[in-house]
Amino acid sequence: MNLIKQNDPAVWAAIEAEQVRQADGLEMIASENYTSAAIQQAVGSVLTNKYAEGYPGRRYYGGCEHVDVVEQLAIDRAKQLFGAEHANVQPHAGSQANFAVYLTAVEPGDTILGLDLAHGGHLTHGMKLNVSGILYNFINYGVDPETHRLDFDAIAKLAKEHKPKLIVAGASAYPREIPHEKFAEIANDVGAKLFVDMAHYAGLVAGGIHNSPVPYADFVTTTCHKTLRGPRSGLILCKEEHQKMINRNVFPGTQGGPLMHVIAGKALCFQEALQPEFKQYAQQVVDNAKTLADALMAGGLKLVSGGTENHLMLVDVTAVGTTGTAAENALGASGITVNKNMIPFDQRKPMDPSGVRIGTPALTTRGMKTDEMKTIGGWILEALKAPEDAAIHGRIRSEVVTMCEQFPVPGQAVELH
Ligand code: PLP
Repeated sequence: MNLIKQNDPAVWAAIEAEQVRQADGLEMIASENYTSAAIQQAVGSVLTNKYAEGYPGRRYYGGCEHVDVVEQLAIDRAKQLFGAEHANVQPHAGSQANFAVYLTAVEPGDTILGLDLAHGGHLTHGMKLNVSGILYNFINYGVDPETHRLDFDAIAKLAKEHKPKLIVAGASAYPREIPHEKFAEIANDVGAKLFVDMAHYAGLVAGGIHNSPVPYADFVTTTCHKTLRGPRSGLILCKEEHQKMINRNVFPGTQGGPLMHVIAGKALCFQEALQPEFKQYAQQVVDNAKTLADALMAGGLKLVSGGTENHLMLVDVTAVGTTGTAAENALGASGITVNKNMIPFDQRKPMDPSGVRIGTPALTTRGMKTDEMKTIGGWILEALKAPEDAAIHGRIRSEVVTMCEQFPVPGQAVELH
């Protein structure tokens, strides 16, 4: 029986509508994915009732014997999946994971090098309104104006000039593989620690497609809900020497009680990512992104850096005479969900930038492959070249629904009826 529907029809109506939206449209936001029904059940389980401040075997509450098992499973699996010496599975989100790393690695006022938000960095990498930007002296590095790739000569120069205590690698909107080894060399040269935030591409690392930061970095964080396909949450990996301080800086440093239901979801997520099928998934995510990128470029769109090597692409839509906001709206009306995004050296404003960010993780989870990407590329081009044409958007929308019916969303923990 659907108890949400029975007990709270107003909330159920919104959940149901969202469930239908997720099933009937093409979800191409690069940071989103579809969790398995098993993960949804874990996150909706009785573990939400339990307080468990502390760590397995050392809790400040009684009755933790079962949640201890769950947390230890999550820790062991995370270490196995990424080959890490230590894992802290308690961060509520990627942002909290990053704050605990800053608290461990630097003091307020210290200098940190991080990727410019406007070049694909994340808010927690020093944006001035974020805690990171408020507490620390962030110096931004960027991408090369011609190639739109990370410019390691420029990064090394900045590091020598500013002598940061910490260098942050990782991005939210960078379509190329990140060479962690090069960051490690620079950090080593200037005596800085290296922190890699692999939130976006952790699933590709788990699947063996993207090089792993774990051998190179002092600290690695990720979210679990993007390419890794787990519940919304964060994870920290580090060398054993940092274990004590990382644990202290998650709890009590930045959080209180851990979300044990979400930690159960993470345990399931890591187990799913340890299966051989996950490698195929990660490869297909990248194959799909490449096929889509080629289709878009063949149709006249400009891609930042000239393509993609991971799960996302940044499309400069001004090449077809439209803007990021108009593009997001036109694609939305066509049943294709993306987000507007700044492109490097953007001449436009953040609320109406020149680009959109498009990703393939969620569609790949539905089982879509390169043939579908070619069709979707055609729809995207058609919609962007006619951003005001509601008739075209309506026609694409109905074709999208037909395609979606052939690729059901892999699991719904709550039945619609
Ligand atoms: N780090 C990177 C690189 C991200 O892209 C994100 C989320 O988009 C985060 C951290 C923050 O994750 P959360 O939204 O879970 O706080």
